[in-house]
Amino acid sequence: MASNDKPAAPGADSFDVIVIGGGPAGYPAAIRAAQNQLRVACIDEWKNKDGSATFGGTCLNAGCIPSKALLESTELYHRAREEFSIHGIGVGTLSLDLAQMQKRKAGIVKGMTTGILALFKSAGVTALQGHGKLLPGRRVQFTAHDGTRRELSARHVVLASGSTPIELRSAPFKAPHIVDSWGALEIDAVPKRLGVIGAGVIGLELGSVWRRLGSEVTVLEALPDFLPMADQQLAKEAQRHFRKQGLDVRLGARVTGANVTGGAVEVVYTDAKGEQRLTVDRLVVAVGRRPYTQDLLEAGTGVELDERGFIKVDHSCRTGVENVWAVGDCVRGPMLAHKGKDEGVMVSDLIAGRYGEVNYKVIPAVIYTAPEIAWVGQTEEQVKASGRDYKTGVFPFLASGRARAMEQAAGFAKIVAARDDDEILGVHIIGPLAGELIAEAVLAMEYSASSEDLQRTIHAHPTLAEAVHEAALNADKRAIDSINR
Ligand code: FAD
Ligand code: NAD
Repeated sequence: MASNDKPAAPGADSFDVIVIGGGPAGYPAAIRAAQNQLRVACIDEWKNKDGSATFGGTCLNAGCIPSKALLESTELYHRAREEFSIHGIGVGTLSLDLAQMQKRKAGIVKGMTTGILALFKSAGVTALQGHGKLLPGRRVQFTAHDGTRRELSARHVVLASGSTPIELRSAPFKAPHIVDSWGALEIDAVPKRLGVIGAGVIGLELGSVWRRLGSEVTVLEALPDFLPMADQQLAKEAQRHFRKQGLDVRLGARVTGANVTGGAVEVVYTDAKGEQRLTVDRLVVAVGRRPYTQDLLEAGTGVELDERGFIKVDHSCRTGVENVWAVGDCVRGPMLAHKGKDEGVMVSDLIAGRYGEVNYKVIPAVIYTAPEIAWVGQTEEQVKASGRDYKTGVFPFLASGRARAMEQAAGFAKIVAARDDDEILGVHIIGPLAGELIAEAVLAMEYSASSEDLQRTIHAHPTLAEAVHEAALNADKRAIDSINR
């Protein structure tokens, strides 16, 4: 515990730590604070479409978890339709019960969100469902969902209010026809034609879900390049696969209008050839998210927002106000659940006087499409631009016995390492379970491993992980199971 901090006096309304927001940034902050023997409350106002209140924020209720549930179900459906016969399996007439698929998804979400309450109970976190507002002097106004209001005080306040979808003026949300990502997860009949604005992570994941179920999916992306933030060798491979799957991704497409007429959506956009029109049955707008701080800060708290609305914080997530911290999507950095979780845990360790740090250089990114896409560290383009001499090693899953056995031999693993000291600078994987495989690269980079360290690590055979091993070997043109180029 920091030397000038005294534990909160026992009392219903005074805490050592109050966390506002119970998403993947806020709830881990609360649990770690409790593990550090601090008296902690976590306030969350999330309400589901049926009016129920749950912890877990966007990620558990309307993001990571329901999207992965549908990605899994639809991938199974797709494989049953396209691949089972290759294995010699016949399933007769394949049928789709979308209501059951959605029910399974809802069950997973319910299990995960109620699980947080169990975690809070076991750790000793006070769970408060309703709205939290920071007042000057580290006091917090709590308004329960039934409207009752009380004032709480804390030695430390952690703001973890998350983010919300960006709405386009040219295509405002109009459910059920023009929806955000949450709406796109709830569609109850497979649309014949689905439009998606934005070929980012959500556009590709949710576009894949509905494409696999039979929708004609058109994705309109304003930028001229596909996945510009990814390694371009990987982005090109991904684009090729998505095209093959029938995802019609149109680049350089700027939407100027979208109108609901006669049960369909007429989308107008401009591209290099001029004005274009597209008619779809449902339109998903997935053009990014913005920090959410509505009614979070009473005037006079001293907490500042930057020009894009993010709460200003330093490297350790301190706002400019003593003992007020902010973590997750409401602060700078990638909007990822695991980034928020690490920040929340770091802050609660720092509050308790323990060591805490987030290594922002080694945050993995995963896109849960098929093939799956994952990377960590710098792209080849970034390393080239930095001027550092480098080498690359690539291993195609086509040469992986396990991937072949799984009938999932698309894609590759790629490693970018420094030529001078062999340090691994980036790892980029497109292929089966890439999101799982990247964990090894994250650990290696966390410990500043060299590509030789990976080369000298035994990988079980036959596993997908051998692809990362062989990519490292290929960086020195010493791969055994593929041709060294
Ligand atoms: P949130 O999860 O948004 O939680 C904030 C919580 O605070 C909410 O419950 C909100 O109601 C509450 N709140 C806000 N203000 C107040 C207030 N004043 N008082 C009380 N409560 C308040 N990320 C990944 O890493 N992997 C994925 O696979 C992934 N998939 C995604 C899929 C979709 C469709 C979407 C939309 C997002 C996905 N994300 C994914 C991003 C991930 O959901 C976010 O990065 C993550 O939820 C951010 O966590 P957070 O705790 O900062 O904010
Ligand atoms: P994103 O930033 O990933 O992609 C948005 C895309 O929309 C970009 O390619 C952008 O160029 C494009 N765009 C912006 N304005 C446009 C316009 N007017 N017309 C056409 N295209 C336009 O954002 P997202 O896909 O909405 O996801 C939001 C956040 O949620 C992201 O930060 C992401 O990290 C997170 N998320 C993560 C995962 C994951 O980790 N697997 C999954 C889903 C969401």
